[in-house]
Amino acid sequence: MALILSEYLQVTNEGNRHIQCRKCAHNISSVDKNYKLYTVMKEESVQTANPQNVDSRQYVDKDMVFRRFFCPNCATQLETEVNVKGEPPVWDIHIKI
Ligand SMILES: [Zn+2]
Repeated sequence: MALILSEYLQVTNEGNRHIQCRKCAHNISSVDKNYKLYTVMKEESVQTANPQNVDSRQYVDKDMVFRRFFCPNCATQLETEVNVKGEPPVWDIHIKI
């Protein structure tokens, strides 16, 4: 039985453990890596997430971006984040098995 991480992510329970797409069972990355680095990332303005978001430059000195991460096999949107433009994706899932 797989360990469910979110609506679209799970950890496989067979052999080498991987973070896997729940929609198509594609192994995205091993559990010791930031799976977002192995997805297809689309970067857009924070207004894309919500048109009512104001320009982040009013509050911070750096440009902010809205990122969407997709399964490289079936294109299901796996996760989103808001981050500083140019920074690596947030490593928000650390698995200790
Ligand atoms: Zn998939």
